Amino acid sequence: MRKSGRHYLQIPGPSPVPERIMRAIDMPVMDHRGPDFGELGLRVLEGLKRIFKTTGPVIVYPSSGTGAWEAALVNALSPGDTALMVETGHFARIWRKLAGRLGINGELLETDWRRGAPAAAIADRLKADKDHKIKAVCIVHNETSTGCTTQVVDVRKAIDECGHPALLLVDTISGLASADLQFDNWGIDVAIAGSQKGLMLPPGLSFNAVSEKAMQAAKHTTTAHAYWNWQDMLDANKNGYFPYTPATNLLYGLDVAINMLEEETLEQVFTRHKRHSAAARLAVTHWGMETQCQVDEEHSPVLTAVRLPESHDADQLRKVILERFDLSLGNGLSDLQGRVFRIGHLGDFNDLTLAATLSGIEMGLATTNIPFNPGGVQTALDFMQRSPAAN
Ligand SMILES: *Cc1c(COP(=O)(O)O)cnc(C)c1O
Repeated sequence: MRKSGRHYLQIPGPSPVPERIMRAIDMPVMDHRGPDFGELGLRVLEGLKRIFKTTGPVIVYPSSGTGAWEAALVNALSPGDTALMVETGHFARIWRKLAGRLGINGELLETDWRRGAPAAAIADRLKADKDHKIKAVCIVHNETSTGCTTQVVDVRKAIDECGHPALLLVDTISGLASADLQFDNWGIDVAIAGSQKGLMLPPGLSFNAVSEKAMQAAKHTTTAHAYWNWQDMLDANKNGYFPYTPATNLLYGLDVAINMLEEETLEQVFTRHKRHSAAARLAVTHWGMETQCQVDEEHSPVLTAVRLPESHDADQLRKVILERFDLSLGNGLSDLQGRVFRIGHLGDFNDLTLAATLSGIEMGLATTNIPFNPGGVQTALDFMQRSPAAN
């Protein structure tokens, strides 16, 4: 049945694609080996460096974010290598599974899924690794299953203070362009990202930003890989071209997405995300519910994962909200299935988008027997009105 009005896709990625980007994508496909393509290629490759805050290369794959995970692992590590993988949630867990399939020994550092990766515990583990068996520390910048961020700077500090040579691999698939990421300043070796979250594009592009140290490591790895080879990409990228057919139309969209982020300025984009996250949390607290994240400084600017009181089913609530108000919320993943629902407040988003999203949730709660304190929406509205956006 036709539904009137706009669908609210408030899952933490894919995020809604702004019309300006849709229009850019809706253009004739061009010859990716022709004379005009190189200019576009060079422009987006340079633009991406500014988004990652790096002077080094950013590699673009036509794949989902998982492809860029695989690319990072096969280029930087060899079978038999140990990688310390911090299990901050569902995405950290499946990253380890992937590493296992590639013959990499993912050593797990567990958490309670209610905070970012703990730098102190990482330091303890690295100190014990006297003969440097651990070749990489793998963390998730913004854990999309829990709504917790990791303080990447602290993890880098922990590695350096131990004098440990491990590479630092960071999944920022849902962090990039919503939460600050400073690839060079923070000493990241490989950052993994995707198109469909903060970059406001449809799914289909993924990225590896690569440090000089990771490029050096890649010269000696023995993992079989062909399609994902960094060096093939870099050789062709020099002139703005790709070794195989790129996702041409998504690159048109990426070009515009970079412009949009820079028109608003990245700093303002990050401030905006934090402000909407704070407003969403006020509503959740007013409802009498807990956020999954329990550390004040680690609340995600991208999404808020809300825990329902014991014995209530978050998927049932999401179903009611989708059917009645045409609003999609994120589900609880793996261990959190049915326990939490996730509010995406990322990408092309403003005060009224948050107002609508929270209203849909509050009306949804009112139609169920979940105990809650009405008025959370008003609390968020009051906050947004009191503290206007900077632009
Ligand atoms: C979305 C997401 C992924 C998975 O990306 P795909 O594009 O679905 O392959 C991995 N890690 C994090 C943190 C994510 O948010």
